[in-house]
Amino acid sequence: MFRVRLGINGPLVSEICFGSLAISPLQGRVSADEGRDILRYAFAKGMDWVDTAEIYDNYVQLRPVLIEYPEAKVVSKSYAVTAKELEQSLEKARRELNRDVIDIFLLHEQESHLTLKGHAGAWEALQKAKTSGQVGYIGISTHAIQGVRAGALQPGLDVIHPLINYQGLGIIDGSLEEMLESIKFASELGTGMYAMKVFGGGHLAREPEKALEFIRGIRGINAMALGMSSQQEVDFNLALLSGTEISEELRHAVIFREKKLYIADWCQGCGECVTVCPQKALSIKSGHAFVQNEQCVLCGYCGRACVHFCLKIV
Ligand code: SF4
Ligand code: SF4
Repeated sequence: MFRVRLGINGPLVSEICFGSLAISPLQGRVSADEGRDILRYAFAKGMDWVDTAEIYDNYVQLRPVLIEYPEAKVVSKSYAVTAKELEQSLEKARRELNRDVIDIFLLHEQESHLTLKGHAGAWEALQKAKTSGQVGYIGISTHAIQGVRAGALQPGLDVIHPLINYQGLGIIDGSLEEMLESIKFASELGTGMYAMKVFGGGHLAREPEKALEFIRGIRGINAMALGMSSQQEVDFNLALLSGTEISEELRHAVIFREKKLYIADWCQGCGECVTVCPQKALSIKSGHAFVQNEQCVLCGYCGRACVHFCLKIV
């Protein structure tokens, strides 16, 4: 598979990073064993890095595959705020993933310079961990235009994992054009970047060629994390990327497989999604969004209303 360098000084990696949220217990789409087999299959097909996070709760799931593929790189993320929290978080990742060095470690969801300022203790500890060799490269993930800009200016930062897709779905603080400007700015400073939510959390999956072409056309985006929960999805994404003809059978199996609306555990019950559902399929029950599947037509409108990216069609 085509390999790329993340930024000026970052690691060499395959253009697709295996997004492991899709096989994690958080989404519950496959069993732990099935998820491991899908990751093995992706590695065997040439993907050479996997994206996870402490909140995905799947370090132990990934561990056996990482032992089999010691050359594969791992990215993880942490919501740590203080130095002590970061140290604990990194220690947990190293222990549970069975890795002395975490290749890339990110502060999760940094939305502006104020968020980063509030995480100064964690950032300092991350820099120390890089100096001592416990981490290869450091950075942030973000859904925000201001997050990308602040990350680019953060001393010592190597990598940003920004949310970007051709409709700008999920960008929390402005337009798609503004996000592209921020990405350009970060790129000019030599920052490595790999995209998240390329298919808009499933809402853009009906036009996969368009979604991928858009990402590949952005100067400064070196690679992308794609969530995959079946071997067919791995084959489909590899074919998309290489421009190989995709059989109707495979296209149908991946794009038109049975789908449902998934509501993430971190839903905050704000009710924004309820107000936009044309089918009146959503309600709030016990502080959490609830979908009446029989009424849901999978139109995807609700996904755009949730700034926390809780809603996906899976
Ligand atoms: S908009 Fe998102 S956070 Fe708010 S209730 Fe709906 S799913 Fe939950
Ligand atoms: S996908 Fe469409 S119909 Fe289903 S809950 Fe969301 S807005 Fe309503």
